[in-house]
Amino acid sequence: MKHHVNFTPGPSQLYFTVSDHARQAFRDGIPSLSHRSAEFQSIVSETKAGLQQLLNIPENLHIFFTGSATEIFERTIENLVGKKSVHLVNGAFSERFFETAVQLNKQPLKVSAAEGTAAWDVAIPEDTEMIAVTQNETSTGVQLHNDLIRSLKEKNPNALLVVDAVSSLPYPSFDFSVVDSLFFSVQKGFGLPAGLGVWIVNDKCIDRAEQLQARGLSVGSYHSLPSLLSNGIKNQTPETPNVLGIYLLNKVIQDLLRRGIANIRRETDYKAVILYQCLAQHPHIKAFVSDPAFQSRTVIVAETGPHTAALTQFLQNKGLFPGEGYGSRKKTQLRFANFPAHSKEQYEFLVDSLNEFKIN
Ligand SMILES: *Cc1c(COP(=O)(O)O)cnc(C)c1O
Repeated sequence: MKHHVNFTPGPSQLYFTVSDHARQAFRDGIPSLSHRSAEFQSIVSETKAGLQQLLNIPENLHIFFTGSATEIFERTIENLVGKKSVHLVNGAFSERFFETAVQLNKQPLKVSAAEGTAAWDVAIPEDTEMIAVTQNETSTGVQLHNDLIRSLKEKNPNALLVVDAVSSLPYPSFDFSVVDSLFFSVQKGFGLPAGLGVWIVNDKCIDRAEQLQARGLSVGSYHSLPSLLSNGIKNQTPETPNVLGIYLLNKVIQDLLRRGIANIRRETDYKAVILYQCLAQHPHIKAFVSDPAFQSRTVIVAETGPHTAALTQFLQNKGLFPGEGYGSRKKTQLRFANFPAHSKEQYEFLVDSLNEFKIN
């Protein structure tokens, strides 16, 4: 097969070790392993320990598995919100989180920022139970800084702070003294097949779910926090989970740990810098997010205007497959994921190719 690099944000390029791990998993019978077996429990335990190490997660936090990040939107609203959540919206994914609260009959407040920015003028009401932010808005390529996340918590200490980091982890590092819940799914920055979400919560989240339940509200069924917790302490899951997905996540985490998170972050920065530099100097295309303070390191969106189709074809001929623009921007933008699966050499080739692109 011709060399092919997938720059779509998700599913994205598979991490280069995944196919070998998957072959080994089938040889070892992982796909038919019982989720009540000691071997499964040890895979779960290793996966959680690996994540703690990779993302510097304190030991008193809980790590749970779900089917997707979209599922975690729903579980978060059910388990952390009686009525009032506030959603800082600046694109399609933050909007979707807000809509989930609407669909679950809560009374969420949406605070919008212009797309391509992360500048909210927020006065968050006193009685807010939960604040949701999307650390990396995949639809527009906008990233939030830790300062903003910290100041949200400092100004609203009573609200649980929930961070969607689906399209940035494992790159960012979080301060878990201000973040109450963090989540991602595996088909983006972890370079794995889709079908697994990871939900990290502290005890305040567990307490909240128990309080809602005590008030007679529904917190859902098998994937409620109390149910996830009672199974999770045994390194089990309420349902028959994606055992293969958890196994592969564990293997890739071990690979990333061997590579070193500091190296991964440094390489991510390098790749982002060379692509943004190329866009800043390019005669025909530019970065969609103009303020460098908001430019995502992990999903880089190019404004490609009338050249979108020609540029896509030009890159594909070289084996480079960009992601389409999101939603209505399909015909005018391209997105480039910058994940651990994308090598420096691939990014250098991408930048050289963009520089070669001429309009005749
Ligand atoms: C992709 C994505 C989601 C949804 O993830 P699924 O695994 O498809 O459910 C949520 N939030 C952000 C920011 C995303 O990029």
